[in-house]
Amino acid sequence: MNNTIVKAPCVNMLKMDSIFIEMTAQNCNLRCKHCYIDFKDKKIKDYIPLEKVKQNLSMLNNENIQYIHLTGAEPMLHPDFNHILRLCLKYSSVVIHTNAMNINDKKARFLRKVEEENNLNHEIIFMISIDHYIEKENDILRGRGAYRKVIHAIQSLSKYEFNPILSIVNHYNINEIELKNNFKELCSSLGFETTDLNFKIIPLLNKEAKYEIDSDKNYDSLNIECANSRTLTINGIFSCPLLSTDNRGKCGSDFSDYSKKSYLETSYCSQCINHNNYLFSLSLPE
Ligand code: SF4
Repeated sequence: MNNTIVKAPCVNMLKMDSIFIEMTAQNCNLRCKHCYIDFKDKKIKDYIPLEKVKQNLSMLNNENIQYIHLTGAEPMLHPDFNHILRLCLKYSSVVIHTNAMNINDKKARFLRKVEEENNLNHEIIFMISIDHYIEKENDILRGRGAYRKVIHAIQSLSKYEFNPILSIVNHYNINEIELKNNFKELCSSLGFETTDLNFKIIPLLNKEAKYEIDSDKNYDSLNIECANSRTLTINGIFSCPLLSTDNRGKCGSDFSDYSKKSYLETSYCSQCINHNNYLFSLSLPE
């Protein structure tokens, strides 16, 4: 009998500068083909309660949180979205990860007002999902009509002086410079001038990929979410948004007591380490 125990390597979180709040794990108005979420029940009401968010944020007194990320599935579908947004802005700038299907001129104007109401200079930053600069290619992945709506949302946000970041899953494995240049041209044609900082290009993650991690290396200083953030969900604290429904990613039940170590046991972890560039977070200045 082989008694060898293979131990997964671990990442020690040295400081937490960002947190993710999973507003709903299953509710989305798109359900893209390549999404890492396993959608099951269409009618599930799994919104994180406002009270749970309040309690957990109040436990973070000693952390220097620079960004709170609102994620989903689709965070803007949460019935208390505006409350939670206002609450989070009391703590830090807020990044909304959205497919932007619910953003139009009226919503962008409202969100501009919400940002201006907070007198702490905390910003609202939009991370907008769009996967191709050509309508047909985008809509094959994200659903018919998604491209037109997201283009309209980008125009509305830029009209109200937001500077959205486009989060692009490089599904077709296009050369990154070419991809960015094409997106820059598209944005410019909409009257939205961009720089490289407006684009986050992320690889297509393969749920079935083989687990391949060298257990002898030290991964503490990599640019991966579990090294500097934790994800709050309705079921507790997890090491990152990718593992928010995987018990291997569970770090505790709330922010009063959670583990600062993450064991890299999943095939997502192998892909994340290889990419070594945040999949969801903003890169912070050194
Ligand atoms: S998927 Fe990536 S960020 Fe999440 S625990 Fe694994 S290595 Fe860390």
